[in-house]
Amino acid sequence: GSSSGNNYDYSFKILLIGDSGVGKSSLLVSFISNHVNDLSPTIAGQEKFRTLTSSYYRGAQGIILVYDVTRRETFTNLSDVWKKEIELYSTNQDCIKVLVGNKVDKDSERAVSRAEGIALAEDYGCLFLECSAKTRENVEQCFKELALKISEVPSLLEEGSTSAKRNILKQKQEYQAPPKGGCCS
Ligand code: GDP
Repeated sequence: GSSSGNNYDYSFKILLIGDSGVGKSSLLVSFISNHVNDLSPTIAGQEKFRTLTSSYYRGAQGIILVYDVTRRETFTNLSDVWKKEIELYSTNQDCIKVLVGNKVDKDSERAVSRAEGIALAEDYGCLFLECSAKTRENVEQCFKELALKISEVPSLLEEGSTSAKRNILKQKQEYQAPPKGGCCS
């Protein structure tokens, strides 16, 4: 969306990928708002998973792969479905990935162990975190660690800088100057 007035040095495209209902929207909301959330399912929550198009992946500097630690199929789908899709569409070879096991607050319902998460992350060669969009446990770390890793790759940092400059330019063009001889003289 438009964020007029917000100046920043870097702008990165981050994708959240994983089965419907794992908590992708909630993680984003949880990260943006600084409080424990009253979470409700997103509209698309009915689909098992959705295949994404190449345009969604294009130009991404980071991918957050999310599964629900209480639903085993969301974990296996990451290797069966999502990994293939990323390999197919992700144009950016340097793109940083983070594997996230969400909903750790529901510990009694856990169906995927922490060790299994670590093993899959090693297979992907990516970062790994277990978190909860509900309690906000590790949510900030997830985005911060991703941003940090991105900032360590010169090519990605360059893309982010170009993108931010382009956004600022766009904001300036969208800015409507107030009429001459306006009020408050
Ligand atoms: P998405 O389809 O991947 O975007 O998933 P949503 O963000 O819509 O979340 C699906 C459901 O899981 C909603 O009912 C959320 O309230 C719930 N949810 C998401 N994250 C958590 C979490 O960390 N803990 C718990 N207990 N529920 C969560």
